[in-house]
Amino acid sequence: MCYSSSVPTTKLFIDGKFVESKTSEWLDIHNPATNEVIARVPKATQEEMLAAVDSCSQSYHSWSETSILARQQIFLRYQQLIKDNIKELARSITLEQGKTLADAEGDVFRGLQVVEHTCSITSLMLGETLPSITKDMDTYTYRLPIGVCAGIAPFNFPAMIPLWMFPMGMVCGNTYLLKPSERVPACTMLLAKMLQDAGMPDGTLNIIHGQHDAVNFICDHPAIKAISFVGSNQAGEYIYERGSKNGKRVQSNMGAKNHGVVMPDANKETTLNQLVGAAFGAAGQRCMALSTAILVGEARNWLPELVERAKALRVNAGDQAGVDVGPLISPQAKERVNSLIQSGVDEGAQLLLDGRNVKVKGYENGNFVGPTIISNVTPQMKCYTEEIFGPVLVVLEAESLDDAISLVNNNPYGNGTAIFTTNGATARKYTHKVDVGQVSVCGPICVRTSHLYSKTCTQQLLFSMGIQFYTQIKTVTSQWKAEDSTVKTPAVSMPTMG
Ligand code: NAD
Repeated sequence: MCYSSSVPTTKLFIDGKFVESKTSEWLDIHNPATNEVIARVPKATQEEMLAAVDSCSQSYHSWSETSILARQQIFLRYQQLIKDNIKELARSITLEQGKTLADAEGDVFRGLQVVEHTCSITSLMLGETLPSITKDMDTYTYRLPIGVCAGIAPFNFPAMIPLWMFPMGMVCGNTYLLKPSERVPACTMLLAKMLQDAGMPDGTLNIIHGQHDAVNFICDHPAIKAISFVGSNQAGEYIYERGSKNGKRVQSNMGAKNHGVVMPDANKETTLNQLVGAAFGAAGQRCMALSTAILVGEARNWLPELVERAKALRVNAGDQAGVDVGPLISPQAKERVNSLIQSGVDEGAQLLLDGRNVKVKGYENGNFVGPTIISNVTPQMKCYTEEIFGPVLVVLEAESLDDAISLVNNNPYGNGTAIFTTNGATARKYTHKVDVGQVSVCGPICVRTSHLYSKTCTQQLLFSMGIQFYTQIKTVTSQWKAEDSTVKTPAVSMPTMG
């Protein structure tokens, strides 16, 4: 492969230094709006990955012993640095990932909220106590770090998802090995520099780049105690199995097919706007996108208006004024989305809005797909069974709320769901009966705030991205006897009372 010397290379971050990889294997990073090569990312060598994990191991002892107040201070400075640089971070996201600048700022902002949450660590890490569980005996628990932790991130949220991972892991006293998505590493590198500037000691965060070899290294290295993964089902199931077999704590947060159930009594204007925003925002490349609508009863008549609103969205490069929908991440993603649209047509669905031939002036080589709506979809169709991850809304119809609930519960994905209604009893029934971990009423699905990470666990989604995941509990029981109550005989039976 021949590269112009002007193409910048992405550095590794090892032991507090941004270093050029010695690898001979490099991957191109493209601007999704033009497909121009904008950077190269290395596949780190075994030696480099070993150096990174060794650095994490060596710094663990001092970092885990650093006072919790000192750790908190670093993250207080860190959140300010992120706030001060939100525009620069957003620009790097738009360049590599393609999403609109406004949406990229939202990406940083939602990650920032996690960093802000880490600043409450002095309360989050509190243990529990129970005095006098028997005579002279007290019991208490400590929350302690677990060691070297690792994160493997996807491409769709270059700021938010890495920020779900290392800040919470590190504020708990763990050291961290991060592998960003090889398609969007720039924002992570900026975030690492800011963490260093906030005062994080060298070696506590290390960053490697690569694909399968790097993932296998993380799953297999004995020093790594826990892995946080976010990405597709294929990779997530593999990492969950391989990491768990090696005795690691693993959380895999995977794919989605989120349903929005529209009742005929819903506020039509609000519902249609929210549905369009949640289906096509970020070009549908959000795990929380509402990619499937179920129109109940008379709500089926709203389809023409839904199409009109989707049609009005402006498709363009993410840094252009007034843009609503940016490009997909790669030509392969575009091809895959287009072929899933075609599969719907071939299987008898109706293509109400076809974004496949969208033309964007000045960006003819970009990976653009315009908003697409497929109706008359049935649960057996490929466009329903597979996650599309593009600006495509598939629409099903149901006669009743019960039918809609049964459709949602029969779908294997359980990331999130929404119901649009003005009837409280309908909303209550839906939230209680639906077998999905996150339910929104009358609004798009929220990306969870950090204090809820450990609470939403369902079907294929395994969530525990918070304090519980990054700490272990040690229980101490102590019996300080007064001098006049010496134990005179051995107690060989289990006690039957206090
Ligand atoms: P991906 O699975 O392709 O990549 C994620 C990470 O895994 C990357 O770092 C990549 O290098 C690595 N990887 C990719 N394929 C692998 C394989 N076969 N074996 C081992 N490692 C592999 O995911 P993506 O395309 O970057 O991201 C999109 C996916 O992420 C979608 O499915 C989306 O729903 C999901 N996602 C889920 C959540 C959530 O919270 N559940 C959030 C964001 C994205």
